[in-house]
Amino acid sequence: MTDNGYMNKNEDAIKKNRKAVKWSPRVSKDKLARLYKSTCQGIWDEQLIDDVGITLYLRCRDIVNIHRAQTERKVTCPDCLDTGTVTYVTREKNALSPMKCTVCGWTMIWPDYHRTFQRRQLNPGGAVKYFADFIRNYEKARAPKDKMLAIDLVIHEFHYSIRELPEQPARAAGVNLIDGKLTDVIAFLDNLGEMELPGTFRDQYKVWREKQNTINWDEIKIRRANQK
Ligand SMILES: [Zn+2]
Repeated sequence: MTDNGYMNKNEDAIKKNRKAVKWSPRVSKDKLARLYKSTCQGIWDEQLIDDVGITLYLRCRDIVNIHRAQTERKVTCPDCLDTGTVTYVTREKNALSPMKCTVCGWTMIWPDYHRTFQRRQLNPGGAVKYFADFIRNYEKARAPKDKMLAIDLVIHEFHYSIRELPEQPARAAGVNLIDGKLTDVIAFLDNLGEMELPGTFRDQYKVWREKQNTINWDEIKIRRANQK
């Protein structure tokens, strides 16, 4: 085989391994709006709840997996995950040392893997606990109402990622889970809050609105600068 042939074969393998990394999409505003509308009408639309719930479940699982890869150096093998098996591939300290799955042979270097989830609203940030909580809550929930409550809780969470101000909500976590820009997602959640929601959901929205109101970036910036 010529050097060129080897290179081409190698590039094909790299492409194939990269393609194996798939991130679950965010849920559409349209679907969520329909779900809340039926909730307001007192209907538990099981099919729609499962559709939205599973989309959020897979999205949260991806975010938690990214967090594990970043903090514990354990990368979830995408090819094994596709077949329903969870295999962790160790990420070495040397970023250019290939990560390789001992079960199926999938391999990639960390910088390439990292690029697959950059700027895609998959950053666990300071909300990873809530995404993990949703996974647990959703697995436990049997009744459609309990699933709906878990959905409502997670889309109204916040990132708490300012080291100097750990109690200060910094960013609505809904943008990690719902399609659109941060400002659009906030406006959308506000619109949901305006609906004739059942009591628990209305209370949840009020808490969200209060926290959202405490995000004052000018003040955060000043306090941050003063603490440096
Ligand atoms: Zn594997």
